[in-house]
Amino acid sequence: MISEKMLALARGNSAIRAMFEEGNRLAALHGRENVYDFSLGNPNFPAPAAVGRAIRGVLDREDSLLVHGYMNNAGYADVRGAVADSLNARFGTAFDADNIIMSVGAAGGLNVVLKTLLNPGDEVIAFAPYFVEYGNYVANYDGKLVVVPPNTEDFMPDPQRLETALSPRTKAVILNSPNNPTGVVYTAETIARIAEVLEAGRRAYGTEIFILSDEPYRELAYDGVEVPYVTKFYNNTIICYSWSKSLSLPGERIGYIVIPRAVHEYEIVYEAACIATRVLGFVNAPSLMQRVAAECLGARTDVEAYDRNRRLLYEGLRALGFSCVFPQGAFYLWMKSPVPDVDFAEAAKRYNILVVPGASFGCPGYVRLAYCVSEDTIRRSLPAFEKLAAACFARA
Ligand code: PLP
Repeated sequence: MISEKMLALARGNSAIRAMFEEGNRLAALHGRENVYDFSLGNPNFPAPAAVGRAIRGVLDREDSLLVHGYMNNAGYADVRGAVADSLNARFGTAFDADNIIMSVGAAGGLNVVLKTLLNPGDEVIAFAPYFVEYGNYVANYDGKLVVVPPNTEDFMPDPQRLETALSPRTKAVILNSPNNPTGVVYTAETIARIAEVLEAGRRAYGTEIFILSDEPYRELAYDGVEVPYVTKFYNNTIICYSWSKSLSLPGERIGYIVIPRAVHEYEIVYEAACIATRVLGFVNAPSLMQRVAAECLGARTDVEAYDRNRRLLYEGLRALGFSCVFPQGAFYLWMKSPVPDVDFAEAAKRYNILVVPGASFGCPGYVRLAYCVSEDTIRRSLPAFEKLAAACFARA
């Protein structure tokens, strides 16, 4: 009766629902404060005060028909101009309003770009471990996700393995840095090597290959680490940015796409992406939030607080004998599982700890802990982790 693709998704959804229900069940039994839920990438710090001020200011100041009205599918021209100016000031780029399309978060942006680029059967490459929704987004347009196996040495994408994954059907490669789930920030050298491999692939196959840079965590980088701006390395780069994490606004669904003029056949790509925004039913990104985002381009979430969480959890778990990647960005800790990852996640629940098995990111043998929780939750979780460690290391 319903679509076969959706039937498969509805049946497969049980694991996510089970995790959510397990969190609620444990909270009802032990109290919410005694459940250590590291499963969700939902920011725990409120949006900066500038966001509330901007919402009130826009509503008080501006004509409500304009604030809440339809506009060009790309978004308000002045908002797009402000986004371009801010990128130029930060990254030395030369964008203008016509390089920007306002989007419904990064998820909306990725769907617009994939709708724009893909013919049925086209391949999109992702590096494991990867954000699991990529598979669904690519399938939306009858594309095929090709997964490059993980580089478990440092979880940097491996350009050599990328080379073997390329084919005449490769249309795009998704990069995600700072990375969900590993917290790794891709180095300029790695991105430059990827660009070389893709240039060679374009020449060999006579095709266009795009980099799709998925950047919801761009502002969450620690210790002054540089997050290179990918358009500088490869002409056919399209960026999908979001304020979901950087301003703690995931429910407001606001972000933008950057399509530089250096992209092959820029005019038609940009035009088609505007139309994709319309025909996918987004029509335009939320109008009030576009205005708010433009007024908050200099605002940031509490990166220092995430940084404190990062150190506390990393050092706490390391002291217990767990082996983790020290995250340089995002708010995830990627930990080697001492027993098979699905068993570890099950065992953790016995100590009221919720984590996501690496298999959910195409990388079994690891688990992801989202440390966008209170510092107090992390402190109080450590004795529970100690018991879990004793149980798991005894078994391993
Ligand atoms: N890409 C990655 C890697 C993510 O982790 C997320 C959300 O967690 C998204 C995209 C979707 O972000 P948004 O809420 O802006 O649509």
